[in-house]
Amino acid sequence: MPGIAVRPASTEEVAAIVKVANRTGYPIVVKGGGNGGGSVTPGEPGRNIMIDMGRLDKIVVDIDNLKVSAGGGACLSTIDDALRPYGYYTSTVIGPYFSATAAGLASRI
Ligand SMILES: Cc1cc2nc3c(=O)[nH]c(=O)nc-3n(C[C@H](O)[C@H](O)[C@H](O)COP(=O)(O)OP(=O)(O)OC[C@H]3O[C@@H](n4cnc5c(N)ncnc54)[C@H](O)[C@@H]3O)c2cc1C
Repeated sequence: MPGIAVRPASTEEVAAIVKVANRTGYPIVVKGGGNGGGSVTPGEPGRNIMIDMGRLDKIVVDIDNLKVSAGGGACLSTIDDALRPYGYYTSTVIGPYFSATAAGLASRI
């Protein structure tokens, strides 16, 4: 179990958390949707930090250039929702649709 769970909403907040981890020596683990089973918090139980990336989920669709920018915490399903009005969709075959995140998926590559 993580001793501390945090849900940053910006990269500045992530940086501040990492500084706290460096100062205290608490190890950190980053969590997306948690489907990979690999996000085990390292270190001594209760003396570690889990960073839940779920709030870093901004999605920007630039349909003219066929480009989508998604925060690492954006779920496949919400990226899909953003694309459907334009007649496009994401390939969601390699991750649980409603919980796997863009960054969690990228970790598979
Ligand atoms: C039922 C099921 C079916 C699946 N089928 C397939 C399949 O067919 N093919 C396949 O390849 N995979 C498959 N998977 C695995 C799945 O694709 C991955 O587990 C999923 O994409 C991971 O996404 P997640 O958001 O849950 O990441 P997590 O499990 O939360 O994290 C995965 C890794 O990425 C790191 N991470 C997460 N977010 C960030 C971030 N923002 N920044 C830096 N590091 C980060 C974590 O620390 C961890 O090491 C399946 C999983 C399940 C449960």
